[in-house]
Amino acid sequence: MVIKLDNTQTQQIEEICAARGVRLTTQRKRVFELICASKKSFSAYELLEELKKSEPQAKPPTVYRALDFLMEQGFIHRVESTNSFISCGSCNGHEHFSHLLICDKCNNVIELQSDTLVSLLTNNAEQHGFQIQTHVIESHGICQACSSHPM
Ligand SMILES: [Zn+2]
Ligand SMILES: [Zn+2]
Repeated sequence: MVIKLDNTQTQQIEEICAARGVRLTTQRKRVFELICASKKSFSAYELLEELKKSEPQAKPPTVYRALDFLMEQGFIHRVESTNSFISCGSCNGHEHFSHLLICDKCNNVIELQSDTLVSLLTNNAEQHGFQIQTHVIESHGICQACSSHPM
């Protein structure tokens, strides 16, 4: 796997962390860079394997702590149905619920944000006197690239 680093995203979270007064350690930053390197979602295990290349002493808790931190700060999302992680398309944005389109062939994940969808779900729930606290909105299927170039 070729890891291409996107410095803009890293710079952005460095600035946000500085403004929030939270510490972006080298390992947290590295895990974020790995997640950003691809549109594909990564499992914690895959991230650990990649992290070990630059930090041979890395252990599973290292990765889990980094992932917890990045999720708390809203820089990444967990893909619940595949138990893997993607970077957030708007990590400086407000707290939001995402609609994830997950390709079952290549594991690419597209993050959509639809206020209309979220308010529809909220309204439906309210009709049952139910207050939603969190959403997991994930759709599985085949992405455009995979459907136009079947392997
Ligand atoms: Zn997001
Ligand atoms: Zn695909």
